[in-house]
Amino acid sequence: MVHSLTKGLLLTVTLILLAACNDTETRPQIDIEGKTMGTFYSVKISGNIAQNKQQLQQEIDALLEQANDDISTYRPHSVLSRFNQHRSSEPQPIPRGMADIILMAQRIGRDTGGAMDITVGPLVNLWGFGPDKRVVKVPQQQQIDAAKQQIGLQHLKLISDHQGEWLQKELPEMYVDLSTLGEGYAVDQLVRLMARHGITHYLVSVGGAVSSRGVNGQGQPWRVAIQKPTDRENAVQALVDLQGYGISTAGSYRNYFEQDGQRYSHVIDPTTGRPINHRLVSATVIAPTALEADGWDTGLMVLGTEKALKLAEEKGLAVYLISKTDEGFSAVMTPQFKAFLVQ
Ligand code: FAD
Repeated sequence: MVHSLTKGLLLTVTLILLAACNDTETRPQIDIEGKTMGTFYSVKISGNIAQNKQQLQQEIDALLEQANDDISTYRPHSVLSRFNQHRSSEPQPIPRGMADIILMAQRIGRDTGGAMDITVGPLVNLWGFGPDKRVVKVPQQQQIDAAKQQIGLQHLKLISDHQGEWLQKELPEMYVDLSTLGEGYAVDQLVRLMARHGITHYLVSVGGAVSSRGVNGQGQPWRVAIQKPTDRENAVQALVDLQGYGISTAGSYRNYFEQDGQRYSHVIDPTTGRPINHRLVSATVIAPTALEADGWDTGLMVLGTEKALKLAEEKGLAVYLISKTDEGFSAVMTPQFKAFLVQ
């Protein structure tokens, strides 16, 4: 049985506009929504803006289209797909934005001891969570062992010089998967677009990655909710005010399949080559950019509750972890995360 995330409707981070107190002034608010990256995007802006809604939506769609043409593994002719199809160790030119994602992925990959590993694509595809979404069943151990031979961040080199950026693979079958960072990257692109237009009161989201600043149409700070890790719609676990930061949640309770009563989620542990099977079910991270938050959340998911919390405390990360218990769920957060909570 396959449960897949109905993107945008069952966001792991649900946007909640709290009812306004009636003693604040209301402001004009525009909402722009659309589809991208197999999920939904939403741009909410409050206050008067110079651009008209159609013109702004065209700029947003063009920017997201470019991101897909650069880093989508669901588009066979994207820059990333052409790199993955390439079977030589010849460095391939890549756009600046993609180089920024790779740099962030290499840093978080090192910090998580390889738990977040964007070269994990052969395993993601083997387990049926990639673009070709094959029939989902547990692969044979020798298939897993063979795929594990094709991964490892140490075999991926980012080359930067005054002429541009290049990506080089040492293993011909290497397949880079940026799915865990793409939504955060897209949110940061939208935040930069807001800044270019001098828009300072917004809430932007792409899938489960969000960033917000300022107040909504009721003059209240935007509120972002973290959902309880259940299939029940919109059960709120916690509320935060991002104050210009980015947030992202990785979870193992939406995108999975079951076989013989066991769940297999889309978060893969590169060391075992198998989906994680510990009790951490949701990791939410708040960071200065949505890209960084989106990179950390999957790495922490792979590490499991104890190791994730220890690493988050060492790095001073704003992290909120929800784990399964015999009675239900338990949540733990770092002091840095508490600073964003809305009481
Ligand atoms: P996250 O927790 O953020 O990421 C989990 C994903 O990361 C897994 O699905 C896997 O791909 C990868 N991963 C698993 N384990 C690891 C690990 N240890 N280290 C690093 N990465 C790991 N989906 C569609 O169905 N149709 C589309 O057309 C489509 N287009 C896309 C275009 C782009 C540019 C991107 C970036 C993604 C696209 N996707 C598409 C995928 C989809 O948007 C989500 O990225 C995907 O479902 C995971 O997002 P998430 O937030 O649910 O999970």
